[in-house]
Amino acid sequence: MNTSDKGFNTKLIHGGDIDDVFGSANVPIYQTSTFRFKNAQHGADCFSGKSDGYIYTRIANPTIRALEKSVADLENGFDGIATSSGMGAISSVYMALLGAGKHIISSDAVYGPARGILEQDFSRFNVEASFVNTSNPENIIKAIQPNTCVLYIETPANPTMNLTDIAACAEIAKKHNLILVVDNTFSSPYLQKPLDLGADVVLHSVTKFINGHADIVGGIIVAKDKKIYKQIRHAMVYLGCNMDPTQAYMTLRGLKTLAIRMERSQENAMKVAEFLANHPKVAWVKYPGLPSHPHHELAKKQMKGFGAVMSFGLKGGYQAGEKLMNNVHLALLAVSLGGVETLIQHPASMTHAAVSKENKLEAGITDDLVRFSVGIEDIDDIINDLKNGLDKI
Ligand SMILES: *Cc1c(COP(=O)(O)O)cnc(C)c1O
Repeated sequence: MNTSDKGFNTKLIHGGDIDDVFGSANVPIYQTSTFRFKNAQHGADCFSGKSDGYIYTRIANPTIRALEKSVADLENGFDGIATSSGMGAISSVYMALLGAGKHIISSDAVYGPARGILEQDFSRFNVEASFVNTSNPENIIKAIQPNTCVLYIETPANPTMNLTDIAACAEIAKKHNLILVVDNTFSSPYLQKPLDLGADVVLHSVTKFINGHADIVGGIIVAKDKKIYKQIRHAMVYLGCNMDPTQAYMTLRGLKTLAIRMERSQENAMKVAEFLANHPKVAWVKYPGLPSHPHHELAKKQMKGFGAVMSFGLKGGYQAGEKLMNNVHLALLAVSLGGVETLIQHPASMTHAAVSKENKLEAGITDDLVRFSVGIEDIDDIINDLKNGLDKI
């Protein structure tokens, strides 16, 4: 069904529908590496682009295409490119849009490896990168060089929960001829639509909210126009970080409940944030839904809700954090986020361990910072678990 004129929830349920010979209610898993051509001419037409038949799963596959079209429709983009992981999406975008002698400006607090691959790997190919606090757009303007071609932001950012004004970035990008890329993992298209705010490319780790069940790793990119879409698809196909058909099927299944999962988990998150903010052992809480968050007004402007992830610090610092993590039992001590289960982790020693201490501090990733991703369990159980853990400090 073409769902482009339908509401968000209808798109979630029917956006992945494809024509199928047996009338299956769900997208079948086309678990095949290759596709038979009808004859020599058909094979030639598929390769030349005259026919849009399938050739080989690294290039395209019907199950994967269903997910790509569905998420592209949710993000109001031209088309989507599913990848093996969120990092596969980020690597494909960097590979497509950067080159020797080019310069990228990125938010300083981004997903650790998204920064690490620029610092440690793309730097070897003569790609320059500047990491700035993009929450203040002035910092972006100051960092622009004649060879800058990409502005890469993550909002809310991992794990500081700082927000960046997408519309303001789009204006800067347009004026200086930069391609604006937004990592929308923390919000999902349910809460935030970067392309509508002027971004050129949006990407996700579907491992998080889009799939939502902590049972697969995957990524997706959506481009606003055909030219950039083709550039990125080429990079993905040549790098070989395609999604697998079963991964796509699982993600399509998880996607259907994105809106109701997000609603419940952000309702829980608001209560957790308020509980933590009033707890004597908690030094600070950063959740976009709290009026104390420095970008609360921006959150209200560019997001439809405040999401389910927060960070907080304990008065007892690193040791208290360690104690808390060893004394919660319902919240899983695990990296990742955006699933139906509540997760807790310590970025300084875990997800952002690869970032140098100096860069961590500059990006606001302090040693006492604990990241909490709120699931859809009963709120009383989540809060009691935290309460018991905090009592042990
Ligand atoms: C997890 C995450 C990624 C990386 O995704 P993978 O699926 O783990 O490769 C990228 N960006 C953000 C914001 C993330 O949370």
